[in-house]
Amino acid sequence: MQLVCLDLEGVLVPEIWIEFSNRTGIPELRRTTRDEPDYDKLMKYRLDILAEHKLGLPDIQKVIAAMGPMPGAKGLLDDLRKQFQVVILSDTFYEFAMPLMEQLGMPTLFCHKLEADATGLLVNYHLRMPNQKAEAVQRFKQLNFKVIAAGDSYNDTAMLSEAHAGILFHPPENVIREFPQFPVTMNYAELKSEILKASKKIGEE
Ligand SMILES: [Mg+2]
Repeated sequence: MQLVCLDLEGVLVPEIWIEFSNRTGIPELRRTTRDEPDYDKLMKYRLDILAEHKLGLPDIQKVIAAMGPMPGAKGLLDDLRKQFQVVILSDTFYEFAMPLMEQLGMPTLFCHKLEADATGLLVNYHLRMPNQKAEAVQRFKQLNFKVIAAGDSYNDTAMLSEAHAGILFHPPENVIREFPQFPVTMNYAELKSEILKASKKIGEE
């Protein structure tokens, strides 16, 4: 039995914080872990900025719904789900992802949670567990699945290494250079064909 694990942002939907920052015209929200390596500090900073701008969850979800998934993402998912069980592993939050999941036909998503107060303002975030992408792949293997994983960035490389087959999708140059062991795909047709190739290969192992 084979399972496909996909990253969400940068693979099926845009980078949510970056796109949110563009659409709301709040440049401070472009800050990433590259600018602030302390994730807890970065998240509290982001939540403070949202509160300053009086953006509650319903406003945020409206902006995210309008982003939509990447063109062709739903078609790819529907296609893969005919042949494989597909699980999306993401470091985003359910509250952010939900408007996009609806547009993707509600696939299975493992990610994290936000906490809002009674007025809808976000007051905290809760990571389900650290390093959850690689941990999930490890658990799926213990359940006797053969796992094919695809993602676009650094935070996917542990998951890609843990899987029976790892594939990069539209990654930045430095990730391609640092992880030459993973095949690189640049569009959905290439990704699909690389997944099928991996499936055949691990099926024969
Ligand atoms: Mg990503």
